[in-house]
Amino acid sequence: MDTKIPSQITFDDFREFCNSAKLKPTHQRFEIYRELNSATDHPSAEMLYQRVKTNVPSVSLETVYRTLATFEQHGIIVRINAFGDRARFDANLTVHQHLACTNCLAICDFTWTAFEKLELPAQTGNWGRIESQQVVVKGLCNSCLEKESSA
Ligand SMILES: [Zn+2]
Ligand SMILES: [Zn+2]
Repeated sequence: MDTKIPSQITFDDFREFCNSAKLKPTHQRFEIYRELNSATDHPSAEMLYQRVKTNVPSVSLETVYRTLATFEQHGIIVRINAFGDRARFDANLTVHQHLACTNCLAICDFTWTAFEKLELPAQTGNWGRIESQQVVVKGLCNSCLEKESSA
C-alpha cells in the first residue's frame, strides 16, 4: 500500500485508510492504530494496551491482540518476530529492516539497500506466494554495551 500516513492521524484519515484496506473503521481500532502509528519503539501488544488504556479505559488486552491480528491481515501494519512469541508491531510500511537488542529488547529501524534490491531465488516462487521479506539483526545496543563495560 502506498498511502502515506502522517504520525498525527485523524479519524477521517483512518477511515480513508481503512476503506482502501477494506477494513471497517471503528473508534476502538482507530485508537489502537493511532497509538501504534505514533510510536517509534515498535511496541508489543501489551505495551500498546497500556497506552491505549489511558484514552480508552474499556479496551481489553484481548481486543488489542485481535485488532493487531486484523490489521496485520489487512496489511496495514507489520509484525516483527524478533523475540520469539513476544511479537512487536510497526505501522511504518516503508521498506526497512530492524535491529533488535537481546538485552533491553529495543528495536530500531535501518535500511539495507543492497538487501532490499535482492531478488529472491527462483525456487521460492515455486514454493508459493511470498508476502514479506524482512531481516531482524540481533545483538546488543550501544547503551547496553556501555552498561556492560561499566559493570
Ligand atoms: Zn539494549
Ligand atoms: Zn520499523
